[in-house]
Amino acid sequence: MRQSVDPLKNISALQDALLTWFTVSQRTLPWRQDYHPYHVWISEIMGQQTQMERVADYFSRWIEQFPAVSDVATADEQQILKAWEGLGYYSRARNIYRTAKILVEKHDSRIPANHDQLLALPGIGPYTAAAILSIAYNQDIPLIDANVERLFTRLLDISEPVKSARIQAMLRKTAQSLLACGKARMFNQALMECGALICKPGKPDCPSCFLAEYCLARQHGTVLLRPVRAQSAKRIDIVMACAVIIDQGLCYIQQRMPDDVWGSLWEFPGGRLKNNETPEQAAIREVKEETEFEVENLQPLGFVVHHYTKYRVTLHGFTCSLSRNHAVPALHAAVQYRWLQLPELVDFPFPAGHRQLVKRLVGRLEAGLTS
Ligand code: SF4
Repeated sequence: MRQSVDPLKNISALQDALLTWFTVSQRTLPWRQDYHPYHVWISEIMGQQTQMERVADYFSRWIEQFPAVSDVATADEQQILKAWEGLGYYSRARNIYRTAKILVEKHDSRIPANHDQLLALPGIGPYTAAAILSIAYNQDIPLIDANVERLFTRLLDISEPVKSARIQAMLRKTAQSLLACGKARMFNQALMECGALICKPGKPDCPSCFLAEYCLARQHGTVLLRPVRAQSAKRIDIVMACAVIIDQGLCYIQQRMPDDVWGSLWEFPGGRLKNNETPEQAAIREVKEETEFEVENLQPLGFVVHHYTKYRVTLHGFTCSLSRNHAVPALHAAVQYRWLQLPELVDFPFPAGHRQLVKRLVGRLEAGLTS
């Protein structure tokens, strides 16, 4: 294999290679049509923890529903949460909503082109501020996401844990040195796109990589060992159960407290299993604690598994009926409730696990298995 050229000693050649490649190979993404600051902001918030292809779908629907910042600010919170349903991490949607109101009130409905003003807005941290300033406003500010981090650790063959303070400082310095001044919009995206499409985590496409001649990890045969991760924190398993109460053809749901995890979303009453409880016992107990309803005739609706940060949540669902006629709950874990026809459930925003149960219920109804 040919000896690699140190990337930091050939900055202008590396910049040219990246910009040329990005010009012809970038993915067509809706916010790249005009780089409008509102579009860049929404795409950046949606892109946190979410794959780009999914973001593109949600983004297009969002912009159709809320064409301008003022449309977000004047919407009902439930409309915002419903438009976000399925993307997870709902605090992002709530922060967009809060920020939109501030933008209307204090910034003439514009996204500020100023670092400190951006950082003062809910949900905008240093990375998102840098993304907005460089991509929307083309300011000379470097940007390091997970794709760029991986690309740099391979180009420079960094053998220390990537999250250590020393390596993070080194990456910031590298990003600053490599930045193509006056072209930050394209250059930052080129780095991220190269990491996403070529220098991928498990299967980097080294044979056709246009940066191969600069890549020290390729020369040293350490590509798949980079980046080095610290011992990862253990995944935590949580088992929960919930009850889908059906009474006289109507289904009970309740809205979570606003400050709770998944605040203001809707759910079936339920919670975590305690001690040696079975999921069925937990569902009965949770219903009693949260609503004072007593339920019977529990029938398994199956379970769903979903991941939330370091947690793996297994949620068991049961359909059931009320043991006595007492359709007005005492709300101990919710702000309001509804009794709905099953098809109406799809109009309400639910957390991921409950939403899968809703799909299952509606599917059963369509198959004639639920009344
Ligand atoms: S040669 Fe391979 S490891 Fe190096 S930058 Fe290209 S894809 Fe990444």
